Amino acid sequence: MKILVVNAGSSSLKYQLIDMDTEAVVAKGGCERIGIQGSLLKAKGNGKEKVYEQDIPDHKVAIELVLHALQDGEIGVIAHMDEISAVGHRVVASGEYFKHSVLVDDEVLKVLEEKTFELAPLHNPAAATGLRACMQVMPHTPMVLVFDTSFHQTMPPKAYLYGIAYDDYKAYGVRRYGAHGTSHKFVSQEAAKYCGREGDENFKVVTCHLGNGSSISAVKGGKCVDTSMGFTPLAGVLMGTRSGDVDPSAVEFLARKKGMSHAEVITYLNKKCGVAGISGVSSDFRDLTAGAKEGNERCRLALDMFEYQCKKFVGAYAAAMGGVDCIVFTAGVGENTSVVRAGVCEGLEFLGVQLDKEKNEGKNDGSVREISAPASKVKVLVIPTNEELVIARETLALVK
Ligand code: ADP
Repeated sequence: MKILVVNAGSSSLKYQLIDMDTEAVVAKGGCERIGIQGSLLKAKGNGKEKVYEQDIPDHKVAIELVLHALQDGEIGVIAHMDEISAVGHRVVASGEYFKHSVLVDDEVLKVLEEKTFELAPLHNPAAATGLRACMQVMPHTPMVLVFDTSFHQTMPPKAYLYGIAYDDYKAYGVRRYGAHGTSHKFVSQEAAKYCGREGDENFKVVTCHLGNGSSISAVKGGKCVDTSMGFTPLAGVLMGTRSGDVDPSAVEFLARKKGMSHAEVITYLNKKCGVAGISGVSSDFRDLTAGAKEGNERCRLALDMFEYQCKKFVGAYAAAMGGVDCIVFTAGVGENTSVVRAGVCEGLEFLGVQLDKEKNEGKNDGSVREISAPASKVKVLVIPTNEELVIARETLALVK
């Protein structure tokens, strides 16, 4: 059985075709610059890569082109569109409307389009556009929505509520929703498997998804009990260009000082801050570690802040769960940047964390890597994330 995973942005559409018998990716690629001059599809399949440079005015044409590439004589991997059993769509925000992945019907479509757009105004409309395009081109293929936020729906109210008036939470849905849920789910499941603790209600993991956007979750017995991102993905630790947690009063203060509207300050906090704003050099951790090595103090400061803030979440979540059995690092920085992992774990010996320095320096080979010392009470793992596979698995479970 083959499942197509679609991740639609406002001007892009990425896809993977996954064979669920082996969970292998048999083809993948993405359309870029949809509706903009110079649009193209870069597609891989059959061990080859092909670039289709052609006009892609909208998402319907994009998905038609993807289906064409999947059946292309040279790089194609299927003989007919019917070989695609279902399509799983990544959706950024579910609010409280969807607690799990769902099979698309008229009602689901209506809630997606009428209720959730305001929660992720840049992302959810794009996902809906991608969904509608797929429904048009593949009218008989089941469609499934998989949300970045639904893994966090198991958080208890004490973790997801803000200290704002309860009536306003009820009226407007202002609360912590979290993000990167498919990644936190995948790596926490892999960690349980690795540690032989699958199905154990008492297995306590802190998952650190550290990339351009970063979030940290507390996962107990396979369920998320807390997470660092909030109402939007601006909250939590500082990130590539996002500030992370800031006293909301500073928004008003900055608006006055910089002559900006509140919305402009939020854009500034999303795009001009984080490690990029602190270092003045880059949002890319490869540049920051290189800069710090050469003695750039602001690069070192950005790294120090990032490691310190992540460490505080690990400690907080150990307290929230009554201990921690395993810490997982994943995503671009978590998988590749050993100095950050070392910085986060340093000083956590009191929790029973003992890093093996040599193992921590080992290369990312795409497998699960244990980087704690054999005597460490807490296992520290590097687990490459695979959000597309989670989407495919959830899709399969719903269409089976
Ligand atoms: P996104 O949130 O955009 O998905 P990623 O998870 O791809 O981000 O992470 C991007 C970050 O990972 C960048 O800051 C980059 O510097 C860092 N990184 C460090 N080493 C590598 C590497 N070898 N390959 C890719 N990214 C790396």
